[in-house]
Amino acid sequence: MIRISEPTIGEAEEKLVLEVLHSGRLVQGPMVERFEESARDAIGAAEVVAVNNGTSALVAALQAHGIGPGDDVITSPFTFVATLNALLQVGATPRFADIGFDFNMDPASLEAVISPATRAVMPVHLYGLACDMDVIRPIAERADAVIVEDAAQAIGAAVGGVNIGATGTSCFSFYATKTITTGEGGLVTTDDVDVAARLRMLRNQGQRGRYDYAFIGHNFRMTEIQAAVGVAQFGRLSAFVEQRRANALALTERLAGIDGLLLPSEPAGRRHAYQQYTVRVTPDAALDRDVLAEKLLAQGVECGIYYPRPVFDYPCFREDPRLDDLDVPQATLIAGQVLSLPVHPALDIDAIDRVASLVRRELS
Ligand SMILES: *Cc1c(COP(=O)(O)O)cnc(C)c1O
Repeated sequence: MIRISEPTIGEAEEKLVLEVLHSGRLVQGPMVERFEESARDAIGAAEVVAVNNGTSALVAALQAHGIGPGDDVITSPFTFVATLNALLQVGATPRFADIGFDFNMDPASLEAVISPATRAVMPVHLYGLACDMDVIRPIAERADAVIVEDAAQAIGAAVGGVNIGATGTSCFSFYATKTITTGEGGLVTTDDVDVAARLRMLRNQGQRGRYDYAFIGHNFRMTEIQAAVGVAQFGRLSAFVEQRRANALALTERLAGIDGLLLPSEPAGRRHAYQQYTVRVTPDAALDRDVLAEKLLAQGVECGIYYPRPVFDYPCFREDPRLDDLDVPQATLIAGQVLSLPVHPALDIDAIDRVASLVRRELS
């Protein structure tokens, strides 16, 4: 079976985890500091704050920027549910800009939706492809809206040679299926020292000093065990991303020219980290997307459908009075067509060949 994702864990992770277990310090200690140091170096961020998962990173980042009840935040309708849950958890009112052919927030749609009521914009760098930030950033700035980036899938992505996370405020996830993992884990990077200070308090019960509370906080602390895995994983980050990019290139070479199959691409100036390799199966294809996925699975190739519907398209959200104006035709269309093929760095060229030749055979 060729899996859609597979964590690569080795001796480096084992050694550091054992170091922690023998140390007597299990939470928010020197290994978490080392993890933050590794992240700072790899991303080029000014300030980094480790937390227990990516959803916590989003909640804390929004709160650290003062986003709360009644605040309009524009995000992408084509994302994992955590993006929407984080907005609703902090009390914000989510608004949606439609997506473009790169699966990310379409700047033209953002321009149409943004208003004086907009407090923040939350772009999502989906599948590891950086959003068109050079266009999105000035639109947000003109409207006086802050930008909080959902970079959960985007470690290793960049715009104009600058890593996502090196500027502004970005939220990363180290969940088991992400490019590097700590099992569960998250990180906020920011270039704002005041935001960083609030994040460090927010993750630890709002505590400023011992029994001195600045505001209502959370327990979003990372464990030393998570951090130990993460330190070792950061050591492999560039190798993982390079291998993903090589696998993506090999898939694209082998899948070119199939009717009804649209392949992912890398727009000029935006580095794709290929957290997923996602194709579109259009009505011109020989098989329907869901049928193709079933046939591949039956032959030992696991695929993913990320995501089958726009993020708000579930009764619990549609019934929420904060959600209306949900007309996003591109996201609705594309959600019915996407299929993610295995691209993770543990795949060898034989596995890539097998995936590509099965897809070609089924669609011929
Ligand atoms: C994984 C993910 C998250 C949430 O991260 P967790 O670590 O699972 O909480 C948020 N947004 C997107 C786009 C994700 O892919």
